[in-house]
Amino acid sequence: MPGRHFLQIPGPTNVPDRVLRAMDMPTMDHRGSEFQALGKRVLSGIKVIFQTEKPVVIYPASGTGAWEAALVNTLSPGDLVLMYESGQFAALWKKLAEKLGLRTEFLSGDWRSAAKPDAISDRLKADTDHEIKAVCVVHNETSTGCVAPIAEIRRAIDEAGHPALFLVDTISSLGSIDYRHDEWGVDVTVGGSQKGLMLPPGLSFNALSDKALDAHEKSGLAKSYWDWAEMLLVNKNGFFPYTPATNLLYGLDTAIEMLLDEGLAKVFDRHARHGEATRRAVRAWGLDVLCEEESQHSGSLTAVLMPDGQDADQFRKVVLDHFNMSLGAGLGKVAGKVFRIGHLGDFNDLMLLGTLGGVEMGLAIAGVPHTPGGVRAAMDFLSGQRRAGGDAKVAAA
Ligand SMILES: *Cc1c(COP(=O)(O)O)cnc(C)c1O
Repeated sequence: MPGRHFLQIPGPTNVPDRVLRAMDMPTMDHRGSEFQALGKRVLSGIKVIFQTEKPVVIYPASGTGAWEAALVNTLSPGDLVLMYESGQFAALWKKLAEKLGLRTEFLSGDWRSAAKPDAISDRLKADTDHEIKAVCVVHNETSTGCVAPIAEIRRAIDEAGHPALFLVDTISSLGSIDYRHDEWGVDVTVGGSQKGLMLPPGLSFNALSDKALDAHEKSGLAKSYWDWAEMLLVNKNGFFPYTPATNLLYGLDTAIEMLLDEGLAKVFDRHARHGEATRRAVRAWGLDVLCEEESQHSGSLTAVLMPDGQDADQFRKVVLDHFNMSLGAGLGKVAGKVFRIGHLGDFNDLMLLGTLGGVEMGLAIAGVPHTPGGVRAAMDFLSGQRRAGGDAKVAAA
């Protein structure tokens, strides 16, 4: 089909042309001085994105690798890990933990809201022997579109007086929803390249704390490729212990520059605005947003519930066939029942309206009962925001 494909799944996301061009480079000597300068730049720049002054480890791996790294670097075989069933990604992280020889406990969730600080605090208070060694939470649960209150969960752990480590997955929120590794007292933050960072898949991250580094000293799980020790040692000079994904690092360098040029606060505002505009469209169509908590709606994606008896995957196929647009599938417990609209990464108002236009026309073509006017509702919101000076750059122009 002519024109660009609309890749509106919640990751991987659209890669900006500027990032693609930055990666269009010859392979290089990763032990040479040219690489060293790049290595130093990205290792320092990525800290700003995580809002941390502590080291961030960069792996040539998908996000799943960084999940594994966070666990093997801090825990020992048989350790008990408390996790919260926010949705499919929490369930996958739990499964991975079990395969590594950890014991897990799942606080049950309803897949329509994020991890609850009270439930975590209650469980930790009951753990008087401090058997629980880590609490693992997904910040933006990509299967539901609910965002967990990380600062509140930190307070809940402290209030319980529990020494457990706090591990957080920000793979679909980093660079799109406000996240503060240091200020929120997180011990290991897991990130990935292919969502808010606007890069292709293939890089992932562990942001660390001093407490995480202490835990690393005592951790007994086997590790080699993922071991922070060797990474941190040679990262000091801008190098990596094994061949890094050099071309992706060129892309990362440019992606960090783009995020900081726009300003992180503006990036977060833009995503929040696109989330709100999307929800207004969904409600105007008479459909329900999967996330039920008003304070937890995601700026990176919106999961939409299909009316009873309507197949979300059939609907997605109609949209792909007619408009060359990919929407996200429902995952796990909500497979076939929801579709997900990704509105994160390199994205603007008109791309959102194109996306919502494709969804609205798709609903009509597929014969899904709905009320037209969702795109209108989104336009009214976006133009109203700009009239009110919602985007300072536009107001100044
Ligand atoms: C995408 C995603 C993952 C998985 O990352 P991969 O790069 O596919 O391994 C994990 N957690 C969350 C929250 C995600 O959105």
